[in-house]
Amino acid sequence: MMSIEEWVEGAATAVILGHVHPDGDCVGSCLGLRSYLRAVKPELCVQVYLEPFAGEFHFLTGADAVSPDFYEEKSYDICFALDCSDRERLGDAVRYLDGAKRTVCLDHHITNEGFADVNVIRPHASSTSEVLAELMEPGKMDRATAECLYLGIVHDTGVFKHSNTSEKTMRIAGALLAKGVSSSHIIDDTFYRKTFGQNRILGCALLAAELRLDGRLIASCVTGKDLERCGVTNRNLDGIIDQLRVTEGVEVAVFLYEAGPGEYKVSLRSNDLVDVSRIARSFGGGGHVKAAGCTVAGTCGDILERITALAAEQLGQQEDGAAAH
Ligand code: 5GP
Ligand code: MN
Repeated sequence: MMSIEEWVEGAATAVILGHVHPDGDCVGSCLGLRSYLRAVKPELCVQVYLEPFAGEFHFLTGADAVSPDFYEEKSYDICFALDCSDRERLGDAVRYLDGAKRTVCLDHHITNEGFADVNVIRPHASSTSEVLAELMEPGKMDRATAECLYLGIVHDTGVFKHSNTSEKTMRIAGALLAKGVSSSHIIDDTFYRKTFGQNRILGCALLAAELRLDGRLIASCVTGKDLERCGVTNRNLDGIIDQLRVTEGVEVAVFLYEAGPGEYKVSLRSNDLVDVSRIARSFGGGGHVKAAGCTVAGTCGDILERITALAAEQLGQQEDGAAAH
């Protein structure tokens, strides 16, 4: 197992990439690795490419140096792809992966089959930020790096609440806090704080929600018109799926939003019985057993029918298994 320091040995330039529609873990891990590399190898030139991301993350060190322009004619000695379960998730930034002399993929998605020269994929890790924290030498990690990784862990665990939160996650988070990270600032200001518009679209999604499969599946869909009415964009929808998931009796939560003409982004969450990564994968998406997603063409109603059938199949198999015992 090589270390981060060994991967960048002999390299003069490095590029760090994350997935399209970057979330907290994606931004945190990319900026955390940037800060760490700058600390351990100041002569290395490091560039991060990411699509525009939520304003709440802009206080992180290095956020202002991120380029959203994926069309620059540049090639790098080493490319890190973070929090990306497949090449397609890199969007147009995949050109920097293809143009790099060496590639490293660090991730925690169970659906990741490993598309780089070196692949460190740990499906039991809460987040890519946790994977990175384990790979970094604690003595070389400064507060700026710790802040990024702590934010990533907070977001991918839903503030240490999802089942991906292990004893190790808590130990790593504790070590990051010891670097001087302000936990309450990160949790309140980047995770819980909602704008008025975000609360309105949450309300809209909850009002539109419907139960299926005898209350074991909850589904909601918001259209471009709904977003407009509430004064938000599709980057302001974090947290809606989590609220749907905690509905009493629900095993599977499905949230759709209109991502383009005739196209919906689907978020899937499961409590215990269903592997939603299988459902997402059947639509060309991916993710984790209990949290997955995909983008699907069609109408809201049709997409929901197809997802409901796949969830019913898995729930049915569970029941058949239970009856056989
Ligand atoms: P979310 O529902 O929060 O967008 O995503 C939940 C999980 O599924 C995340 O870990 C995310 O990386 C993964 N995911 C979401 N959408 C897609 C997709 O279109 N393709 C793949 N491969 N993974 C996705
Ligand atoms: Mn992640």
